Amino acid sequence: MEPLVYRVAPGSKVDLAAIDPRSNGNLERAVAEAEFDALTTEIDDLQELLYGAGTHSLLVIMQGMDTSGKDGTVRKVFSKVSPLGSYVYSFKVPTEEELSHDFLWRVHRVTPRRGLIGIFNRSHYEDVLVVRVHGLVPEPVWRARYRMINDFEHLLASSNTIILKFFLHISREEQEERLLAREKDVEKAWKLSAGDWREREHWDDYMAAYTEALERCSTADAPWHIVPADRKWFRNYAVARTVVETLRPYAQDWLAYLGKVGEQRLAELRAYRAEGER
Ligand code: AMP
Ligand code: MG
Repeated sequence: MEPLVYRVAPGSKVDLAAIDPRSNGNLERAVAEAEFDALTTEIDDLQELLYGAGTHSLLVIMQGMDTSGKDGTVRKVFSKVSPLGSYVYSFKVPTEEELSHDFLWRVHRVTPRRGLIGIFNRSHYEDVLVVRVHGLVPEPVWRARYRMINDFEHLLASSNTIILKFFLHISREEQEERLLAREKDVEKAWKLSAGDWREREHWDDYMAAYTEALERCSTADAPWHIVPADRKWFRNYAVARTVVETLRPYAQDWLAYLGKVGEQRLAELRAYRAEGER
Protein backbone atom coordinates (compact mmCIF):
# COMPACT_ATOMS: atom_id res chain seq x y z
CA MET A 1 0.00 0.00 0.00
CA GLU A 2 1.36 3.40 -0.92
CA PRO A 3 0.78 5.96 1.81
CA LEU A 4 -1.35 8.97 1.00
CA VAL A 5 1.30 11.47 1.98
CA TYR A 6 4.79 10.91 3.29
CA ARG A 7 4.99 12.43 6.72
CA VAL A 8 8.65 13.01 7.46
CA ALA A 9 9.53 11.58 10.86
CA PRO A 10 11.73 13.97 12.86
CA GLY A 11 15.39 13.28 12.22
CA SER A 12 14.79 10.80 9.41
CA LYS A 13 16.37 10.73 5.97
CA VAL A 14 14.45 11.74 2.86
CA ASP A 15 14.97 10.26 -0.59
CA LEU A 16 12.82 12.26 -2.97
CA ALA A 17 13.89 10.16 -5.95
CA ALA A 18 12.29 7.14 -4.26
CA ILE A 19 8.89 8.83 -3.94
CA ASP A 20 6.86 8.61 -7.13
CA PRO A 21 5.24 11.97 -7.97
CA ARG A 22 2.66 10.11 -10.07
CA SER A 23 1.44 8.04 -7.13
CA ASN A 24 -2.31 7.84 -6.67
CA GLY A 25 -2.12 6.11 -3.29
CA ASN A 26 -3.98 3.15 -4.87
CA LEU A 27 -7.10 5.26 -4.96
CA GLU A 28 -9.68 5.53 -7.66
CA ARG A 29 -10.22 9.01 -8.94
CA ALA A 30 -14.02 8.99 -8.75
CA VAL A 31 -13.96 7.75 -5.16
CA ALA A 32 -11.37 10.32 -4.13
CA GLU A 33 -13.28 13.15 -5.76
CA ALA A 34 -16.52 12.25 -4.02
CA GLU A 35 -14.77 12.07 -0.68
CA PHE A 36 -12.91 15.28 -1.41
CA ASP A 37 -16.17 17.16 -1.51
CA ALA A 38 -17.11 15.92 1.94
CA LEU A 39 -13.63 16.75 3.26
CA THR A 40 -13.82 20.38 2.12
CA THR A 41 -17.17 20.73 3.90
CA GLU A 42 -15.62 19.29 7.02
CA ILE A 43 -12.73 21.76 6.80
CA ASP A 44 -15.29 24.57 6.81
CA ASP A 45 -17.04 23.08 9.86
CA LEU A 46 -13.72 22.64 11.67
CA GLN A 47 -12.73 26.21 10.92
CA GLU A 48 -15.96 27.45 12.50
CA LEU A 49 -15.14 25.49 15.63
CA LEU A 50 -11.58 26.80 15.55
CA TYR A 51 -12.96 30.33 15.40
CA GLY A 52 -15.64 29.80 18.02
CA ALA A 53 -13.26 28.26 20.52
CA GLY A 54 -10.59 30.85 19.77
CA THR A 55 -7.89 28.81 21.47
CA HIS A 56 -5.82 27.73 18.45
CA SER A 57 -4.82 28.84 14.99
CA LEU A 58 -3.83 26.79 11.97
CA LEU A 59 -0.83 27.61 9.81
CA VAL A 60 -0.59 25.78 6.50
CA ILE A 61 2.67 26.13 4.57
CA MET A 62 2.71 25.30 0.86
CA GLN A 63 6.03 24.76 -0.88
CA GLY A 64 6.95 23.24 -4.21
CA MET A 65 8.63 23.96 -7.51
CA ASP A 66 7.05 26.33 -10.05
CA THR A 67 3.83 24.80 -11.45
CA SER A 68 3.66 22.24 -8.62
CA GLY A 69 0.16 23.52 -7.88
CA LYS A 70 0.49 25.61 -4.74
CA ASP A 71 -2.19 28.09 -5.88
CA GLY A 72 -4.54 25.43 -7.23
CA THR A 73 -4.35 23.30 -4.09
CA VAL A 74 -5.18 26.24 -1.86
CA ARG A 75 -8.08 27.25 -4.08
CA LYS A 76 -9.62 23.77 -4.05
CA VAL A 77 -8.87 22.55 -0.53
CA PHE A 78 -10.09 25.69 1.22
CA SER A 79 -12.86 26.48 -1.27
CA LYS A 80 -15.64 26.16 1.29
CA VAL A 81 -14.00 27.99 4.18
CA SER A 82 -15.52 31.39 4.91
CA PRO A 83 -13.38 34.32 3.73
CA LEU A 84 -13.85 35.56 7.29
CA GLY A 85 -12.01 32.58 8.65
CA SER A 86 -8.94 32.23 6.50
CA TYR A 87 -6.43 34.13 4.42
CA VAL A 88 -3.56 33.42 2.08
CA TYR A 89 -0.24 35.20 2.14
CA SER A 90 2.10 34.84 -0.84
CA PHE A 91 5.78 35.41 -0.23
CA LYS A 92 7.53 37.13 -3.10
CA VAL A 93 11.11 38.30 -3.62
CA PRO A 94 11.79 40.29 -0.42
CA THR A 95 11.44 44.05 -0.63
CA GLU A 96 14.22 46.36 0.40
CA GLU A 97 12.48 46.93 3.71
CA GLU A 98 12.11 43.21 4.32
CA LEU A 99 15.77 42.65 3.48
CA SER A 100 16.73 45.24 6.05
CA HIS A 101 15.41 42.95 8.78
CA ASP A 102 16.06 39.40 9.87
CA PHE A 103 14.55 36.82 7.50
CA LEU A 104 11.71 35.91 9.84
CA TRP A 105 10.49 39.47 10.35
CA ARG A 106 8.14 39.50 7.39
CA VAL A 107 6.89 36.04 8.28
CA HIS A 108 6.11 36.48 11.94
CA ARG A 109 3.90 39.51 11.29
CA VAL A 110 1.52 37.51 9.11
CA THR A 111 1.13 34.36 11.19
CA PRO A 112 -2.51 33.55 11.97
CA ARG A 113 -4.14 34.84 15.11
CA ARG A 114 -6.23 32.41 17.18
CA GLY A 115 -9.36 31.31 15.40
CA LEU A 116 -7.97 31.73 11.90
CA ILE A 117 -6.43 29.57 9.21
CA GLY A 118 -3.40 31.27 7.69
CA ILE A 119 -2.05 29.80 4.48
CA PHE A 120 1.46 30.56 3.30
CA ASN A 121 2.05 30.30 -0.42
CA ARG A 122 5.83 29.94 -0.18
CA SER A 123 7.29 30.89 3.18
CA HIS A 124 10.44 31.33 5.25
CA TYR A 125 11.63 28.11 3.60
CA GLU A 126 12.53 30.17 0.52
CA ASP A 127 15.39 31.44 2.68
CA VAL A 128 16.97 27.98 2.62
CA LEU A 129 15.80 27.11 -0.91
CA VAL A 130 16.08 29.81 -3.60
CA VAL A 131 18.54 31.66 -1.38
CA ARG A 132 20.74 28.58 -1.09
CA VAL A 133 20.47 27.56 -4.76
CA HIS A 134 21.49 31.03 -5.93
CA GLY A 135 23.95 31.74 -3.15
CA LEU A 136 22.11 34.95 -2.22
CA VAL A 137 23.80 34.86 1.19
CA PRO A 138 26.97 33.03 2.28
CA GLU A 139 26.57 29.37 3.24
CA PRO A 140 27.12 29.83 7.00
CA VAL A 141 24.23 32.32 6.97
CA TRP A 142 21.66 30.02 5.34
CA ARG A 143 23.00 26.98 7.22
CA ALA A 144 22.23 28.63 10.54
CA ARG A 145 18.64 29.12 9.44
CA TYR A 146 17.43 25.53 9.80
CA ARG A 147 17.77 25.77 13.52
CA MET A 148 16.27 29.26 13.61
CA ILE A 149 13.30 27.99 11.62
CA ASN A 150 12.79 25.10 14.05
CA ASP A 151 12.97 27.46 17.01
CA PHE A 152 10.57 29.89 15.34
CA GLU A 153 8.06 27.18 14.53
CA HIS A 154 8.39 25.83 18.06
CA LEU A 155 7.58 29.30 19.37
CA LEU A 156 4.44 29.43 17.22
CA ALA A 157 3.41 25.93 18.28
CA SER A 158 3.91 26.81 21.94
CA SER A 159 1.41 29.54 21.42
CA ASN A 160 -1.23 27.08 20.11
CA THR A 161 -0.51 27.36 16.41
CA ILE A 162 -1.15 24.05 14.69
CA ILE A 163 1.39 23.85 11.87
CA LEU A 164 1.14 21.76 8.70
CA LYS A 165 3.77 21.89 5.98
CA PHE A 166 3.24 20.46 2.51
CA PHE A 167 5.85 19.87 -0.16
CA LEU A 168 4.10 19.35 -3.50
CA HIS A 169 6.31 16.82 -5.22
CA ILE A 170 6.08 16.98 -9.02
CA SER A 171 8.34 15.34 -11.56
CA ARG A 172 10.59 17.25 -13.88
CA GLU A 173 8.63 15.88 -16.84
CA GLU A 174 5.30 17.02 -15.44
CA GLN A 175 6.72 20.49 -14.86
CA GLU A 176 7.81 20.70 -18.49
CA GLU A 177 4.33 19.74 -19.64
CA ARG A 178 2.70 22.32 -17.41
CA LEU A 179 5.07 25.07 -18.53
CA LEU A 180 4.45 24.20 -22.19
CA ALA A 181 0.69 24.16 -21.60
CA ARG A 182 0.88 27.74 -20.36
CA GLU A 183 2.59 28.73 -23.60
CA LYS A 184 -0.10 27.19 -25.72
CA ASP A 185 -2.99 28.86 -23.98
CA VAL A 186 -3.16 32.66 -24.20
CA GLU A 187 -5.38 32.75 -21.14
CA LYS A 188 -2.79 30.90 -19.12
CA ALA A 189 0.21 32.76 -20.53
CA TRP A 190 0.04 35.50 -17.89
CA LYS A 191 1.42 32.88 -15.49
CA LEU A 192 4.46 32.34 -17.68
CA SER A 193 7.85 33.69 -16.94
CA ALA A 194 11.14 33.03 -18.63
CA GLY A 195 12.47 32.80 -15.08
CA ASP A 196 10.57 29.53 -14.57
CA TRP A 197 12.60 27.94 -17.38
CA ARG A 198 15.76 29.40 -15.92
CA GLU A 199 14.96 28.01 -12.45
CA ARG A 200 14.27 24.63 -14.01
CA GLU A 201 17.93 24.37 -14.98
CA HIS A 202 18.69 24.23 -11.26
CA TRP A 203 16.30 21.33 -10.65
CA ASP A 204 18.86 19.05 -8.97
CA ASP A 205 20.12 21.84 -6.72
CA TYR A 206 16.53 22.54 -5.69
CA MET A 207 15.94 18.88 -4.92
CA ALA A 208 19.05 18.84 -2.74
CA ALA A 209 17.90 22.00 -0.96
CA TYR A 210 14.39 20.62 -0.45
CA THR A 211 15.77 17.33 0.84
CA GLU A 212 17.80 19.05 3.50
CA ALA A 213 14.93 21.35 4.53
CA LEU A 214 12.60 18.36 4.81
CA GLU A 215 15.14 16.39 6.82
CA ARG A 216 16.21 19.13 9.16
CA CYS A 217 12.93 20.92 9.72
CA SER A 218 10.35 18.19 10.19
CA THR A 219 9.54 18.30 13.89
CA ALA A 220 6.80 16.98 16.14
CA ASP A 221 5.47 20.55 16.35
CA ALA A 222 5.61 21.23 12.65
CA PRO A 223 5.84 18.14 10.48
CA TRP A 224 6.57 18.12 6.76
CA HIS A 225 4.33 16.16 4.41
CA ILE A 226 5.55 15.13 0.97
CA VAL A 227 2.59 15.01 -1.41
CA PRO A 228 2.83 13.20 -4.77
CA ALA A 229 1.53 16.01 -6.97
CA ASP A 230 1.64 15.03 -10.63
CA ARG A 231 -2.05 14.17 -10.45
CA LYS A 232 -4.05 17.15 -9.33
CA TRP A 233 -7.05 15.25 -8.04
CA PHE A 234 -4.82 13.09 -5.85
CA ARG A 235 -2.79 16.02 -4.56
CA ASN A 236 -5.96 17.90 -3.54
CA TYR A 237 -7.41 14.86 -1.85
CA ALA A 238 -4.21 14.08 0.04
CA VAL A 239 -3.84 17.63 1.35
CA ALA A 240 -7.52 17.94 2.33
CA ARG A 241 -7.40 14.66 4.18
CA THR A 242 -4.27 15.60 6.05
CA VAL A 243 -5.84 18.89 7.12
CA VAL A 244 -8.99 17.15 8.34
CA GLU A 245 -7.11 14.40 10.15
CA THR A 246 -4.95 16.97 11.88
CA LEU A 247 -7.86 19.10 13.11
CA ARG A 248 -10.35 16.36 14.00
CA PRO A 249 -8.68 15.39 17.29
CA TYR A 250 -9.15 18.96 18.53
CA ALA A 251 -12.84 19.13 17.64
CA GLN A 252 -14.09 17.50 20.86
CA ASP A 253 -12.24 19.97 23.04
CA TRP A 254 -13.36 22.91 20.93
CA LEU A 255 -16.97 21.79 21.13
CA ALA A 256 -16.76 21.32 24.89
CA TYR A 257 -15.22 24.75 25.26
CA LEU A 258 -17.91 26.29 23.05
CA GLY A 259 -20.55 24.59 25.17
CA LYS A 260 -19.11 26.17 28.30
CA VAL A 261 -18.91 29.62 26.73
CA GLY A 262 -22.50 29.23 25.51
CA GLU A 263 -23.73 28.35 29.01
CA GLN A 264 -21.90 31.29 30.47
CA ARG A 265 -23.46 33.68 27.93
CA LEU A 266 -26.93 32.32 28.65
CA ALA A 267 -26.37 32.72 32.38
CA GLU A 268 -25.32 36.33 31.80
CA LEU A 269 -28.44 36.97 29.78
CA ARG A 270 -30.65 35.45 32.46
CA ALA A 271 -29.01 37.66 35.08
CA TYR A 272 -29.58 40.74 32.92
CA ARG A 273 -33.26 39.94 32.48
CA ALA A 274 -33.70 39.19 36.16
CA GLU A 275 -32.30 42.63 36.96
CA GLY A 276 -34.95 44.25 34.76
CA GLU A 277 -37.70 42.49 36.68
CA ARG A 278 -36.55 43.76 39.98
P1 AMP B 1 5.64 33.33 -7.54
O1 AMP B 1 5.35 32.46 -6.37
O2 AMP B 1 5.65 32.59 -8.84
O3 AMP B 1 4.78 34.55 -7.57
O4 AMP B 1 7.13 33.85 -7.40
C1 AMP B 1 7.65 34.39 -6.24
C2 AMP B 1 9.14 34.41 -6.39
O5 AMP B 1 9.69 35.00 -5.22
C3 AMP B 1 9.73 33.03 -6.53
O6 AMP B 1 10.62 32.99 -7.61
C4 AMP B 1 10.50 32.85 -5.22
O7 AMP B 1 11.63 32.05 -5.34
C5 AMP B 1 10.84 34.28 -4.86
N1 AMP B 1 11.10 34.43 -3.43
C6 AMP B 1 10.26 34.20 -2.41
N2 AMP B 1 10.88 34.36 -1.22
C7 AMP B 1 12.16 34.69 -1.50
C8 AMP B 1 13.30 34.97 -0.70
N3 AMP B 1 13.25 34.94 0.63
N4 AMP B 1 14.45 35.30 -1.34
C9 AMP B 1 14.49 35.34 -2.69
N5 AMP B 1 13.47 35.07 -3.50
C10 AMP B 1 12.31 34.75 -2.92
MG1 MG C 1 6.36 31.46 -10.41
